[in-house]
Order: sequence, then structure tokens, then C-alpha cells
Amino acid sequence: MNDLDSTVALLSDLIAFPTVSADSNLAMIEHLAERLEAAGARTSVLKDDSGRKANLFATLGPDRAEGGLILSGHSDVVPVEGQDWHRPPFEMTEDDAGRLYGRGTCDMKGFIAAAVHLAPELARIATHRPVHFSFTYDEEVGCLGARSLTSELATRGLKPAMTMIGEPTEMRVIDGHKGVSEYTVRFHGRAGHGSDPEAGASALDAAIRYAARLLELREELKRRAADDLPFHPPWTTVNLGRLAGGNAHNVIAASALLEWEMRPAQPGDAEFVREALSKHVEEVLLPQLRRTKPDARIETEVIGDVVGLDPENENALRDLLLALTGTADAGTVAFGTEAGLFRELGGDVVVCGPGSISQAHLPDEFVTRDQLDHCLRTIRGLTQRVAGTA
Ligand SMILES: [Zn+2]
Repeated sequence: MNDLDSTVALLSDLIAFPTVSADSNLAMIEHLAERLEAAGARTSVLKDDSGRKANLFATLGPDRAEGGLILSGHSDVVPVEGQDWHRPPFEMTEDDAGRLYGRGTCDMKGFIAAAVHLAPELARIATHRPVHFSFTYDEEVGCLGARSLTSELATRGLKPAMTMIGEPTEMRVIDGHKGVSEYTVRFHGRAGHGSDPEAGASALDAAIRYAARLLELREELKRRAADDLPFHPPWTTVNLGRLAGGNAHNVIAASALLEWEMRPAQPGDAEFVREALSKHVEEVLLPQLRRTKPDARIETEVIGDVVGLDPENENALRDLLLALTGTADAGTVAFGTEAGLFRELGGDVVVCGPGSISQAHLPDEFVTRDQLDHCLRTIRGLTQRVAGTA
């Protein structure tokens, strides 16, 4: 079999592991670890506290903490429930146009299959610097696996020169994206009869005032934005996703809940919003609630916190990948990735992988054979330049 057919065969194996974020990914991680060990890699399977999920970190080539390349992907996929699939989501199928269908084909098991298929060849190429593989859990629910893995790698003193994050960009070279922070805020007041609103402590009133403050902040964030931010839209955004609370027309709402997100486009904005909100809570909302309910509470839960990737003037990995993929310019994307966490290890980080984000998370998700072929050539060329030269 040629490289592409072998990659497609491995992808088919990987699609058959239903690694939805809520479920275990261990079977797939063990399968990948075996493949990498067979290629001579030194592997670590690092389980989470529940023991049901694991990160896989593996290394080919010299045993050195500094330099080299990380090929990074997440093992988890989003659920398929409620989606109108015309093909089996966890059994890869192919059409006449070379489209390979299945949950995770583009986001992002195609990249993982390409990287792992090439491992025996990369082992021969990586004579001077290491090539690492990082396959994480729980990316789709807030990059939890990458957070734990990057802090473990920092403890080990790992300082990679470059990290390629193979999220679907149609092999375009992406050197920046916004962060994503998701919050659930719970408001606890006191019920009462609707005929006398001041006798209770309306959690719904508080939630609406909180939401209104967020809408004001949304406008302020536009005004705060630097002139040349490379994102769309070019400022930090706030979205109110869900507001719920109360029981009936004539009852003061004892509890309410607001789900919202923020996508920071520049340093300082997230702190600005968090400080403005906590001031509003302490100085306005809690005093109002506590007039009639002394132990009223407003609690914020951080659901996800994806670190942004700020484009930088110097990025040798970006320049190498532009040359290898024959593209003129790097760009930014509107989705979050693990890139910002890997950036914290030092070294250059780029997002570049096969398939289109417009297929990700949807029914009948697919990646094309052409994209996988492009990915194979890019990973091989990159490894030759980063790990194979003195
Ligand atoms: Zn992804």
C-alpha cells in the first residue's frame, strides 16, 4: 500500500473508536501508542483523575528536551446525537470523489492518522532533533487534556522549537486565533409572591441586569480594540447564549442562570471584562439581592477557557510551512485551538491541518484524500527541515 492508502486505512481504524468527549478515549490512545512504539517511539500514556481518559505523548529521535517538533492533535470528537447523518458516523465510508466520511475525519483524526502513519519514516529522518506526538483528550470541552499535558511537559523541562497543531485549516497556515472563555453564572435569590416584587429577591432581575452590563461591555470592547487586530471581527466579542430562571408568572424567581462567552482578541480585554463584572456584582447586584435575602449569592463557573494565539512577527514555523505548502500569507481563524497552551512552552506554534472547519462538528463530516496527501507531504518536509538537519 502507498502512504495515502495506509493513512486512509489507519483513519478508518480511528473513526471506529467513538471518542466523544464525554466518553473514554483509552482504546484509541492505546492503539496509537502501539503504532508509535512499533516505530521506535518512547511513549507516555498520562491518564486523567477519572482514569477513563488519557493524553498520549511520544517521542522519536534524540532524547533531548530542547528543540525539535511537536505534532499535536486532539483525540476527542463532538457528539452526533440530534444530527441528521446520512452515513454511519463511526464507520468510515468513501464516495467517488475521494471524500472520506465519519465523525472526526477532519476534526481531527485525519491529521493524527497522517502523523502516525509516517512515524517509521520520521524515525529515520529525525537524526538530529526529536519529533514528538501529542494526542490529547477533552479539547472540545475546553482543552482540558492539553492544559494538563502542557503543564506536565513544562515540568519535564521540554522546550520544543515548534508545534504544529493539525486542526482543519485546509492546510492553510494559521498563526493566530482569539481565545474563548465560557461562563455559567448562577443567581440565587428568594421567592415571593409576584404581587409584591420588593418582598423577594429576584434572581431573574439580577441575571437580566448582569446581562445588560455585558451588553454595555460588548460596546466598550469595540472601542478599546487596537486598530490593526487581524481577526474577524477585529475586536473582543461577548455573546449571551442562554438565560433561564424562575417558575411562573406570579412568582418572584428564586434562581436564574446565564450562559455566556467571550472571545478575547487582545491582551487585557478579558481582565477588563472580569473586573467590570465583579465590580457590578459586588457594588450593585448583591446589595440589591441582599436587602431581603442576606445570603443571596451569584456564582460564576468557568466552563471553558481556551487561550488565544497572538500572531507574532517572528515565527520560523510559519515561514517554513508557508514555503512547504506554497502559500503566500498566513491567516487567522475564528475557532479556538490548543495552540495558545503549547505557545506557553516557548517555541513557534502554527495551526495547519487537513480538512475544512466548515465540515467539523456537522453531520456527514468528511476529509478528502487530496487533503490527506497534502498533509503527508507537509509533515514529511517539515520533519526533514526541523529534525533532520544539524
Ligand atoms: Zn478540533
